[in-house]
Amino acid sequence: MNDTIAVIGAGQMGNGIAHVFAQGGFPVTLIDVSASALARGRSTIEKNMERQVKKGTLDAAARDASLARIADSTDVEAAGTATLVIEAATENIDLKRRIFSDLDRVAGEGAILATNTSSISITDIAGRTRRPESVIGMHFMNPVPVMQLVEIIRGLATSDATTARVIELSRALGKVPVEVNDFPGFVANRILMPMINEAVFCLMEGVGTAEAIDTVMKLGMNHPMGPLALADLIGLDTCLSVLEVLHSGLGDPKYRPCPLLRKYVAAGWLGRKSGRGFYAY
Ligand code: NAD
Repeated sequence: MNDTIAVIGAGQMGNGIAHVFAQGGFPVTLIDVSASALARGRSTIEKNMERQVKKGTLDAAARDASLARIADSTDVEAAGTATLVIEAATENIDLKRRIFSDLDRVAGEGAILATNTSSISITDIAGRTRRPESVIGMHFMNPVPVMQLVEIIRGLATSDATTARVIELSRALGKVPVEVNDFPGFVANRILMPMINEAVFCLMEGVGTAEAIDTVMKLGMNHPMGPLALADLIGLDTCLSVLEVLHSGLGDPKYRPCPLLRKYVAAGWLGRKSGRGFYAY
């Protein structure tokens, strides 16, 4: 496969997506509006690849070749040569609408425009372009180099050819693609976020401490991480945005975001990325 990849957003998901494509042999351009986010993204990729080398899952020459495949830019025009663009910018519908209308102008004819959104309608984002048949959800899990799943989400107009292509590319990365339809939160976050939200209600109502809640779910349900630690890893701002999409998109009060989650986000306590969330880092 001789695809060329552009990744929009160099945050925790964008740098992970760039990492796996570069390691898979694809040239990647990582694009972010923030030069410091690009620098942080590259240093995270270097650190994570170094860890793979120490574990013996990547040799040093392959690491060097992978790193050399990653270019970066603060200009969206740099996505112009890509055959697959994956957007992994902040979870905000107005931002994503704007990015896709720009990408439609910048990207070459026939390029696939994918989004890593956790919850936002693929059909809505595709509607901002003149190529809705080439727009699709490609939802990687965090941390991208470790997690096997890619949730593939078809919008109303996504073509069979686009779907087949991203499934093939996901497999080429050694991932397991699972195809689902376009409803708020898709499958992963439709199920995960109400659990995280309920854990925050348990904390707010004093049912248990953060440690108690997480330990119950780890030891009792055999989850590798407790829901509050997982929320800190995902980012509390992202969790709140996803719950808002579920709440407004499905209209059911059971998705109401917990007021304590809103309070933490308002305080700038976003989890690991800000150094403080349900736990201190
Ligand atoms: P993040 O906050 O770590 O990074 C977002 C990045 O987007 C930042 O570096 C920011 O500078 C950049 N950005 C903002 N506007 C931009 C623009 N116009 N052009 C280019 N870059 C721009 O967020 P994240 O956790 O990496 O999440 C990114 C996307 O991935 C979101 O849609 C989120 O819902 C989704 N996602 C997140 C997780 C998770 O666990 N965090 C998992 C799966 C999917």
